[in-house]
Amino acid sequence: MTKQKVYDIAVIPGDGIGVEITDVALEVMNKVAAKYKMQLNFTKVLAGGCAFDKYGEPLPAETVVQCKKSAAVLLGAVGGPKWDTLPGDKRPEKALLGIRAALGLYANLRPAKIYDVLKGASPLKDAIIESGVDVLIVRELTGGIYFGERGRRAENGVVTAFDSEAYSEKEIARITHTAFAAAMKRRKKVTLVDKANVLESSRLWREVVAKIAPEYPEVALNYMYVDNASMQLVRNPAQFDVILTSNLFGDILSDEASMITGSIGMLASASMREDSFGMYEPIHGSAPDIAGKDLANPLAQILSAAMLFEYSLGMSEPARNIENAVEKVLEKGYRTGDIWTEGFTKVGTKKMGELVLAEL
Ligand code: NAD
Repeated sequence: MTKQKVYDIAVIPGDGIGVEITDVALEVMNKVAAKYKMQLNFTKVLAGGCAFDKYGEPLPAETVVQCKKSAAVLLGAVGGPKWDTLPGDKRPEKALLGIRAALGLYANLRPAKIYDVLKGASPLKDAIIESGVDVLIVRELTGGIYFGERGRRAENGVVTAFDSEAYSEKEIARITHTAFAAAMKRRKKVTLVDKANVLESSRLWREVVAKIAPEYPEVALNYMYVDNASMQLVRNPAQFDVILTSNLFGDILSDEASMITGSIGMLASASMREDSFGMYEPIHGSAPDIAGKDLANPLAQILSAAMLFEYSLGMSEPARNIENAVEKVLEKGYRTGDIWTEGFTKVGTKKMGELVLAEL
């Protein structure tokens, strides 16, 4: 008999709808785990506003310890008006930056996919999205201009402010491997998005990426300037498979790409490091306006769980199983309020979870 694989997963439900959508995702994960003969041990820990309420800080040390001991982390969302007036270092969002730094997560993977049955939700014209949209943005998360030297100086009474974009070969190389490895599991195309016609840092990105690309002979590589890429994303998004880019450009392009899909409640993300460890979360926030009302769309969190199986547990089949179940539920016409239109069946968070479970 083959031995059952056991994985420890740290779970941070967080605040607001984070709690509701995470509960649903855990049920989905348990069912898939049983189906594929593995055991998942979930340990729930606090971060965000709920952690502040209990411990007086948004990211307690024991949360970080538990995450470090685990194979992966599933995170809901943090924040809410209750904590909006706290000083900066006590705010729930501080927990997100803190945990990414503590866990050394430098690669952010954001898929933006339009499901055939949700094409109507995209703000783009039918003619543009008819060939489909399935882009994975791989964004460097811990370097570049957000972390570079910054400051202000006054010369002859005139104040000047500066922020610097700096990347080392090592930082570029490790995220490049992440992007190419992801492309190998997809349509095998990487587009490096940069501003190499102007920026020296971008020219280094091109050099490093060009050196690494031959290690992945099956993956096609092309280059695109960021201004063109932002146009191409709305002109012909089907041309992209994996977009590899820096922290700043990735921040902007990933929001643009998610807007193309038309629904914030459908989009998952992963933050990774060199090994298979990662943290998985929906891209949306804690949605205080609908929290506790069984109105939240749990599909982004369920799809985050699918990414966890794929990238941290190295199992594509359970991931495809979850994605297909989500697609089938949508095909059958079920929608939470955020993606509902006339003629479809409106369901709440829990019911949506049950429907996905039934399709697994
Ligand atoms: P939000 O993403 O929480 O909500 C924006 C809008 O989208 C709201 O109308 C909300 O109801 C809706 N929405 C979001 N997710 C949904 C879902 N799954 N199903 C249905 N509708 C959904 O963004 P916001 O309102 O700007 O922020 C609310 C709080 O969340 C703030 O405290 C913010 O700081 C925090 N936040 C946290 C994260 C995170 O934890 N990663 C990310 C963004 C914002």
